[in-house]
Amino acid sequence: MEFENLKLKCECGGAMEKIKTEWKGIEIRGWKCHRCHEEIINPADAQKALEIERARKKNLLTVKLRKVGKSNVVTVPQPIIEAEHLKEGQMLEWKIEAGKLFLAS
Ligand SMILES: [Zn+2]
Repeated sequence: MEFENLKLKCECGGAMEKIKTEWKGIEIRGWKCHRCHEEIINPADAQKALEIERARKKNLLTVKLRKVGKSNVVTVPQPIIEAEHLKEGQMLEWKIEAGKLFLAS
């Protein structure tokens, strides 16, 4: 059974309903108690939100240049995709500044 489908009961005995909430602009799922308004965050979403937050804070991510067929490929880490809402097919720009490469959306 998926954790997100669990019907939770609050410590106060109140029924909890599924909610969507935001943490630093990142959407996370959780539950909220009808009676005492206690909120519980989905642990998988909390983990994901932390990764996104870490990627944002670090401001720098290391990726490896790979060769796929005849192309040179760098992967965009999933936390960045989610934090910046990047979509397949979206155009990104390489910037070269002072000998450094930046990828901008
Ligand atoms: Zn409660």
